[in-house]
Amino acid sequence: MITKFEKQFGELLGGGLDRLPHAMLLIGAEGLGKAVFVENLAHLLLCESPIGYAACGKCQACHWLAGSNHPDFRHIRPDADEEDEEGGREKTRKRGPGIIRIDQIRELESFVFVGSHRMGRRVVPLTEAEAMNGAAANSLLKILEEPPASVYFILTSSRQRFLLPTIRSRCRILPFAAPETAAAKEVLAHAGLAQTDERFLHLAGGVPLRVLKWKESGLLRPLQVLIETLSAPSSDPISLATRWDALLKSEPALSLEHLVEEVQRWLFDLAQERMAGRIRYHVAWPRPKAAGDGLDPITLVSAWQELMQFRGSARHPLNQLLFLEDMAAHLLRALRPVPA
Ligand SMILES: [Zn+2]
Repeated sequence: MITKFEKQFGELLGGGLDRLPHAMLLIGAEGLGKAVFVENLAHLLLCESPIGYAACGKCQACHWLAGSNHPDFRHIRPDADEEDEEGGREKTRKRGPGIIRIDQIRELESFVFVGSHRMGRRVVPLTEAEAMNGAAANSLLKILEEPPASVYFILTSSRQRFLLPTIRSRCRILPFAAPETAAAKEVLAHAGLAQTDERFLHLAGGVPLRVLKWKESGLLRPLQVLIETLSAPSSDPISLATRWDALLKSEPALSLEHLVEEVQRWLFDLAQERMAGRIRYHVAWPRPKAAGDGLDPITLVSAWQELMQFRGSARHPLNQLLFLEDMAAHLLRALRPVPA
């Protein structure tokens, strides 16, 4: 992964720092090194005596950055404070990441349009750009339409399909791809994971660090149980929803968003199997014999799309059980074989 990282870094900087785009968007799943890339690039841009493509680590700018108080550096990220106040740590974790609010972007305007403190560049990393709400995204777009010289926006996103196309189109896209399966398995083995845990690799989109994170947060077991409820679903939505509800309550690591995401992956695989004869995520799980037979791929795909809506409201459902029943009904409808 290191060499790939260096290659990507080199390619980006191939034209020299002066030709670096002013808005970059790093996309790819969590755990592929985007954050390290951003950190390296930010340090390089602000360092006062860089050595090649690396910051010196000794100058005033490097010291400030190390202490997170460089005046020309502003890191924007989803704000989870509100949720902390409401329900403490547990709840924040269950709800997933927060949002990037418009006032966070507004504060940026004065930073971006007033001159730099050090006569040089200014750098604005924006982590999880898809977490911007509509107003924040529009506000950022206005800045990106005419980016002030010497300001660099480095956006990252691990859930790029939630990004506004207009944001994407303003940025140079830098994709971060997962390593080959063999290399990824090596990473897992090296980290001391049992071979049985390797089956989660495909589920995690091939990203080993994601599996490690799941393991660490205690997500592997509930995911396994969840998959069991999917491979042998009860035929009525209420009992399926009740099983899911009990699982969510007994497994604090599993959030409603995780659950929706997994049901989507399941539908995706069923559709893929029907259309292309292969699956992407549940490669390591035994397929229920009849699952693929007689299902209508179009219905499966539209159920997958419908679940996108569920995903949007999974953070703050009005009533968890009703939410789950509704979702179970959508799933079970899609799993009804079409009459031959
Ligand atoms: Zn330096």
